[in-house]
Amino acid sequence: METATGQDASSPPPSIAPAFDRLLETLASYLKTEDIDQIEAAYRFSEAAHEGQFRVSGEPYISHPVAVTAILAEWHLDPPALIAALLHDVVEDTAATTQQLTETFGKAVADLVDGVSKLDKIEFQTEAHAQGENFRKMLLAMARDVRVILIKLADRLHNMRTMTAMSPEKRRRIASETLEIYAPIANRLGLNNVYRELEDLSFQNLYPNRYQVLEKAVKAARGHRREVVGKVQTAIKQRLEEAHIEAQVSGREKHLYSVYKKMQEKSLAFSEVFDLYGFRVIVQDVPTCYLALGVLHSLYKPIPGKFKDYIAIPKANGYQSLHTTLFGPFATPIEIQIRTQDMHKIAEAGVASHWLYKSSDERINEVQQQTHQWLQSLLEIQSESGDAVEFLEHIKVDLFPDEVYVFTPKGTILSLPRGATAVDFAYAVHTDVGNRCVAVRINHELSPLRTELRNGDHVEIITTSQAKPNPAWLNYVATGKARSHIRHFLKTMQSEESAALGERLLNQALRALQVEPAQIGDTHWEKLLKESSAKSKQEVLTDIGLGKRLNVVVASQLLATEQSAGERKSGQPGAIAIRGSEGMAVQLAKCCHPIPGDPILGYINKGKGLVIHTHDCPTITGYRDDPDKWLDVEWASDIRKLFVVRIKVMVANQRGMLAKVAAAIAAAESNIDNISMEEEDGSAYTTLHFSLQVESRYHLAQVIRQIRKIPEVSRISRVKG
Ligand code: MN
Repeated sequence: METATGQDASSPPPSIAPAFDRLLETLASYLKTEDIDQIEAAYRFSEAAHEGQFRVSGEPYISHPVAVTAILAEWHLDPPALIAALLHDVVEDTAATTQQLTETFGKAVADLVDGVSKLDKIEFQTEAHAQGENFRKMLLAMARDVRVILIKLADRLHNMRTMTAMSPEKRRRIASETLEIYAPIANRLGLNNVYRELEDLSFQNLYPNRYQVLEKAVKAARGHRREVVGKVQTAIKQRLEEAHIEAQVSGREKHLYSVYKKMQEKSLAFSEVFDLYGFRVIVQDVPTCYLALGVLHSLYKPIPGKFKDYIAIPKANGYQSLHTTLFGPFATPIEIQIRTQDMHKIAEAGVASHWLYKSSDERINEVQQQTHQWLQSLLEIQSESGDAVEFLEHIKVDLFPDEVYVFTPKGTILSLPRGATAVDFAYAVHTDVGNRCVAVRINHELSPLRTELRNGDHVEIITTSQAKPNPAWLNYVATGKARSHIRHFLKTMQSEESAALGERLLNQALRALQVEPAQIGDTHWEKLLKESSAKSKQEVLTDIGLGKRLNVVVASQLLATEQSAGERKSGQPGAIAIRGSEGMAVQLAKCCHPIPGDPILGYINKGKGLVIHTHDCPTITGYRDDPDKWLDVEWASDIRKLFVVRIKVMVANQRGMLAKVAAAIAAAESNIDNISMEEEDGSAYTTLHFSLQVESRYHLAQVIRQIRKIPEVSRISRVKG
């Protein structure tokens, strides 16, 4: 920076020199020398990079970035934005790289250039008119930094100003894109002059003939009405002076496109459009605005319903003014805007006025903070007006986006919540696309389905007809739609698979009962469904597959409809008769050893058949809550059989105790299956464990009563579990 580079060698070529000199002049009006040096360095970099490139008009290409920078300098943007503007096309159109920019001009500049290049890459398809709003949101969301949008708008503005060398078709395409996308963005950001100029330039290139006719008509009207306008302006000035209100009064012509729109919307002929003129009154402070309004209403009568107070209730873009329309002389409506100097600045420069370069050492952060504060203050004003929700929507979408906007292969824009992945996108396109997706191409590159989408991504889902949703997708989908469709599919798939398994198990059970599955017909099923709580055969099969019903139980239930329960032979000889077990294999649980008289439950155990537990068996407390696995059973009344039961007896440590207890058991006509002892060191008591054979609970009670008669026995209890 210290050594002056050969000024002559790098000075702009003749055709650019005046433009660049004017830019330097503007810069000198608000920037420090070292900043200007930086900008000159950027200029030389850009010029060298674009060397040998020309615009369609034949000018050296560098004239374009210089002009764009000049527009931004008029808005007093900060040095990084100006440097980025000079370099905004080098990454796209020349050999220069982002890394080079970072090294030479810093990351902030490189990021801005990158942001502009990204916006350039997405192309708006004019056929999709309804998509305009989404596209605008996408651009704003992508830009992140307001300066990127400002550079892009200046870029578009200059391109629109210099389109004459292009083919009519290209001019129309660019003009309609500008009308649809960029002019509304300029309007939303409060850049009124840019907005108006973009609209008029678009109008001119889109409908050259209508533009010419209207332009002529307005010129002629201006001639005719000049006298009236002059009179009105003088009258306004005079009346304000009389009221001692200091004000600047200026006449203003409506821009052509807004006249054209009015004619279109209200089907008016040009001669019927009267409010071609407006007046602007700029005063010192807010109270004076209202004062001036009162004064002007006493000059000409206001047209009812035309008064708008944008001071109390600013527009979403921050615009403030009082608007009124008066009945002027010769019944000409006259539009008047009244505002303060500050409001005027915002009205003309919009959001840019908050990005104005400050010559002090303030950093970007602070500038951003100011913008944020500005938005915040707008927010507060807006919430007073009660329209906060809508306003918040604007701010959120425009500057603090929580949505992403992506393209489908057909160019449609989809809006998804932030964090959405390719799977969300697939389901947003169509449920079938979601259910069948296997991979995705993002910006034409194959990517995993879990990839999070970013603004402007071009997303193409790859499907195959055999593909199925994967439960793992639930971990990374962000939309409710995708989530519910995946869940639904998994549930359906699970039940179909379970039903298939259930059918196989049922057929096995039927064959074990010497019945061919084909012999079971609809009538069997109808009867079974009538007697059970199931709604369909499918449900029963699914239950079997899921282990909620036992195949042998269902098989016997199906057969039971054919033969009555009494006629049917019970299972193997010697089986315990337990009612409700319907002839299936029955086992007594080895944990609780149920005996007749105990309240019992049948637990359906795959492979083991029905296992009988006592109601209070501690091993089953864990799954007692699953009623689907339990069968209500009870003991048959005529059992002639012995059952094993376990008891423990606590006795005093004395000789011959075991013999005494054994004798008592024998006296109660029970057999001892097994005995074990548990002696604790130093304890005065011993615990004896007995496995006994008893007929029933009643029999066991008799055994216990006998043992209790022994004085040295301190405690007797039955062991379960
Ligand atoms: Mn450009």
